[in-house]
Amino acid sequence: MLIENKRIAIVGGGPGGLTLARLLQIKGADVKVYERDLNRDVRVQGATLDLHYESGLEALRRAGLMGEFKANYRPGADRIRIVDGKAVVFFDEHNGEIVDDFEDQYFRPEIDRGPLRNILLDSLEPGTVIWDSQFLSMSAEGEGWKLDFKNGTSAAADLVIGADGANSKIRPFITPAKPFYSGVTVIEGTVYDAKENTPDIFELLNDGKIFALANNKTLVVSSKGDGSLAFYAGWKTNENWIRESGLDFSDKSQLLSWFKQEYSDWDSLWHELFLNDSTQFMPRQINSMPLDQRWETKPNLTLLGDAAHLMPPYAGEGVNMAMQDAFELAEKLTEGDCQNLHTAIAKYEVQMRCRASEVTSISLESTKSLHSPVALQWMLEMFAL
Ligand SMILES: Cc1cc2nc3c(=O)[nH]c(=O)nc-3n(C[C@H](O)[C@H](O)[C@H](O)COP(=O)(O)OP(=O)(O)OC[C@H]3O[C@@H](n4cnc5c(N)ncnc54)[C@H](O)[C@@H]3O)c2cc1C
Repeated sequence: MLIENKRIAIVGGGPGGLTLARLLQIKGADVKVYERDLNRDVRVQGATLDLHYESGLEALRRAGLMGEFKANYRPGADRIRIVDGKAVVFFDEHNGEIVDDFEDQYFRPEIDRGPLRNILLDSLEPGTVIWDSQFLSMSAEGEGWKLDFKNGTSAAADLVIGADGANSKIRPFITPAKPFYSGVTVIEGTVYDAKENTPDIFELLNDGKIFALANNKTLVVSSKGDGSLAFYAGWKTNENWIRESGLDFSDKSQLLSWFKQEYSDWDSLWHELFLNDSTQFMPRQINSMPLDQRWETKPNLTLLGDAAHLMPPYAGEGVNMAMQDAFELAEKLTEGDCQNLHTAIAKYEVQMRCRASEVTSISLESTKSLHSPVALQWMLEMFAL
């Protein structure tokens, strides 16, 4: 095996990095994951994730974790309501029984980010994840790398994999390419105890997902297993809006005023999302890596997931692509017929960049369509297919 007696450092313990760690560890590899979070109990926020048959679910099958997934996914949470800004329902998947068929390639079961992370963490040997290790930089050492972390520690590795997400600090060691702005900014939020705090939206959600579309704007709301809901409101604005808006994103009254103005023709039902003391808001520029990325392969360093090919979330592919990268890279490193690591990484990167480019293109197109005057019609047609 190419990675026999090699020390492997994965930087970033998101779904991509942890899936890779599991897949390598079951082949006997010496692997460590360096994660900046202080510990595993940090609350994982963000919308739920739907895993796809040929990518996210395939990764879990290969990792031997489908049993754990089936015990933790949320039956029925994939059911969608498509509504307009006035909350009029145009499409509803809540009619009829929940039919969950894991053999059906179009079945896309939902799981919350926290439970998915726990499944992957629990599958690793104790001590695999080194918490509180925020990667700062690295330098060549022999044929490998010396990695330096913010907490003052360092580590040596023969092979480094950057799985450190959208703002990857490993990426510049491979490519000067930077993400570009998609034209859409979102405000993301989490409401705890949604039944109590957002009763009308809780009812409309019905333990599923809402896509609200009107006047070039979107609002995506997902129910979560712990009784909270996650939402993100997206609209077209200039690249510097977050900095120039002058908003204090910890002040819910400012956010409510902003929403009332920006979403002025939307129903007041949505205001519930901005009325609770516990709601936390996070503004995000929706960025994408270029579609035509090329770089010279390194023999001891590569990228996966958002670090390699950040894309907008509007096709629901980001986590699936990260997990597919993980199983394709693991396969090249442990099962392929490559002569050396350099060739194995090169083969992985060609395949990964090609797939990511196609999917990023689809994600950019859907970002554009969902923030256009015909968004509702476009989405209804997609669901009619
Ligand atoms: C609003 C929104 C909604 C989304 N919805 C969906 C969806 O419905 N479906 C979907 O498939 N995708 C969705 N995505 C995208 C998805 O979240 C990402 O594509 C996915 O999480 C990528 O996984 P990853 O493992 O590559 O990176 P990440 O999940 O970003 O994980 C990176 C990890 O690296 C750690 N890290 C970062 N920097 C450092 C450092 N310097 N040192 C050490 N550790 C570090 C982080 O703490 C994190 O644990 C959404 C994204 C957003 C913003």
